[in-house]
Parts: sequence; structure tokens; C-alpha cells
Amino acid sequence: MPLLQTRPIRDLHSLLEPLVALSALSANVRADFAAVFDHEGDSYRVPRIVFTGPAAAHEPDPIRLGLFGGLHGDEPASVLALIAFLERLADEPARATGYELVVYPLCNPVGYARDTRHNGAGLDLNRQFWRGSEQPEVVALERELSFNRFHGLITLHADDTAEGIYGYTHGHVLNEALLEPALRSASYIIPRDRRANIDGFLARHGKIESCYQGVLAAPSGQRPRPFDLIFETPARDPLERQVEAAVTALDTILDEYRVFLAYAQNL
Ligand SMILES: [Zn+2]
Repeated sequence: MPLLQTRPIRDLHSLLEPLVALSALSANVRADFAAVFDHEGDSYRVPRIVFTGPAAAHEPDPIRLGLFGGLHGDEPASVLALIAFLERLADEPARATGYELVVYPLCNPVGYARDTRHNGAGLDLNRQFWRGSEQPEVVALERELSFNRFHGLITLHADDTAEGIYGYTHGHVLNEALLEPALRSASYIIPRDRRANIDGFLARHGKIESCYQGVLAAPSGQRPRPFDLIFETPARDPLERQVEAAVTALDTILDEYRVFLAYAQNL
């Protein structure tokens, strides 16, 4: 397996090389693109990697999760964490038993290449969802969200004002039940941001219930609602530690949601 990249690589080709290699090496991985678009004479692609874990016993239908990183181009930890997560799953597919993971590690390729939060049009993609945006990244991701009807969404970000890890629960009990153990396990790598106010929102033990309008989310008509978590690492921390913390959080959420579903079926 290729080594974990510990520095941002603004060359998109070499960034995505490990994923191309993975799809050649692992029968569990299928890699293609959710979008291909031109910007100022260059072609950009939003990669989509499907990781199919082994089927769970007595459960023929996989749990489908959407994982998103790099919505803000200047948050490389979110991109590298999803790539590292996929590389480790390829080594140990059993960790994804019962899941089909559809991973979009680089939602804002122009921003990533230029190290900017915004996309090529100067817009914050994470304020554009379900508002009639014509940005190619948003159109493609909305189509993916509508088509896949994910059971759960996990979005990774990095915040340069954060003093530790934290996340958004959107005020839903299941989100809180999944985020809490994820923060707990990841806090062995980076402690929680325990301030009462984070990113302008009221926070409790690193959990925020409110959120901005227009963030990446499931279509409003989707029922039942998927779980939907945003996990943030402190961008000023070393990149390797942010990646470790985010991968640990993802592993924990997979485990906890599996337990939740098994418990729910026995109620
Ligand atoms: Zn962000």
C-alpha cells in the first residue's frame, strides 16, 4: 500500500494516485468520477470511490454511507484522512462489514489545487446546497445525494480557529449518539475543543447543535432522514495528527452505527 501522505499535495494527479492504485489492487474498491468540469482552461475532477465491505451475516442489503472531504480547498486534512481511511480499509476490509461506502475525498478540486477555501468561482461550496446552485461541484454532489439516498452522511472539515476536535449534530439524537463516541475515541489523539462557543455557535463538550444554511445535506424530501455528522479537526495541529483523529472518528462511527442498527432490530 502507498504510504500515507503527510503533506498537502497541490498536484491533483499525485494526490489521487493512491486511489487509482487501490482500485487496481483491491476487489473492494471501485474508483471513478462524480464530476468532470473545466475551469479557466484546465480540467478538474471530483473523484468518487466506492468501497464495498464484506456482507454482514443475515443482512443482504448494505448500509450505504456518503463520506465527504475537501469541500473547502484549504483543509487538506479532510482530503488526506479519507484517502488514509480507504487505504486502511483496503488492508482490512472486514472493518467495513455490512457497509457500502461512497467516498468523495476531494469535493472542491480547484480550491484544493489553489489552497483556497472557495471554489474557482470564489464561492463557499458549503453554503450552496439545495439552493439552486449551478456550481458544477454542487450540481454533481446534489445528484449523488439524491441518487444514493444514503443511510448516513459524514463530512470532514478542518477549522483554523479550533482549539481541538469538535462536530455538528444538527440537534438530532442519533447524530449525537454517534458523534459522542467518535469524539471520545479521537480525543486520545487530539483533545476536544471544550469552549462554550465554537465557530460562532453554542457548543457543549465539542458538540454543536446549530449549523449554517446551505451545508451539504440529504435532499429535504428524503425519509427516513439519514444520520448526518460533521467532524472538525483543528487545522493548526500537525496534519498527521488531524488525519489520525479523523480516521479514528470514522472507524468509531462505523462501529457504533452497526451496533445501533442491531439494537434497533431487536427492539
Ligand atoms: Zn471546512
